[in-house]
Amino acid sequence: MLPITGLQKTTLLDYPGVLASTIFLGGCNFRCTFCHNSQFLALSDNVPLLSEEEVLSHLTKRASVLKGVCITGGEATLYPALPAFIREIKALGYLVKLDTNGTNPSILKALIADKLLDYIAMDIKADTAHYHSICGFSDSLVFSPYLSAIRESISITKQSGIPYEFRTTVCDGFHTEEMLLGICQLTGGGQTFAIQNFKDSTFVPDHTLGSFSDVMLKKFETICIPYFDSVILRT
Ligand code: SF4
Repeated sequence: MLPITGLQKTTLLDYPGVLASTIFLGGCNFRCTFCHNSQFLALSDNVPLLSEEEVLSHLTKRASVLKGVCITGGEATLYPALPAFIREIKALGYLVKLDTNGTNPSILKALIADKLLDYIAMDIKADTAHYHSICGFSDSLVFSPYLSAIRESISITKQSGIPYEFRTTVCDGFHTEEMLLGICQLTGGGQTFAIQNFKDSTFVPDHTLGSFSDVMLKKFETICIPYFDSVILRT
């Protein structure tokens, strides 16, 4: 059973250009310092879950109105049951967008091969030197297998033939112009890059992080433009 911690029944924000529902899966292999869902990263009996049947029932009822489903986390690719669940959503006629941290390239590859995804949004959280620390790891050597997996997922995503975006939540107190350049170099560029300004909230682990000014966001955008077909600022 998938750990479905939430369902946003209607959104225009999560799937670019598509009226969608968003399904939240709990559990994650990272502990990012800026995470807004930190209360759902370690699953316990106290976390109330929705059943797959409840979610599919909602999607069945709304199939004539909604066009897409966004699957977000936590980290959805941790769960072997994910492909079968997406297959049921696709059978209802929905477009499916997957949000991922890129640490499970084999599942990503299988989902693409089985034509179960219509859009991929992959987080690129930092440059290679700083990636481990924003993901909550003190040791870069322990993190290195994850970084290898992320590199593989970048390559798989770029070769997928479906629309995708790489995206970075930029946090004042962590990200720098030099780091944005490093992120561009890590991806090698691509279709779309979304720069998302950090916003503090109750469940964010590190409240010393801040949002950037519009001036800094524009500087980041200027750095990234040469690498991508399109750069989006989400403020
Ligand atoms: S990968 Fe996403 S869900 Fe997991 S800790 Fe980081 S921000 Fe939170």
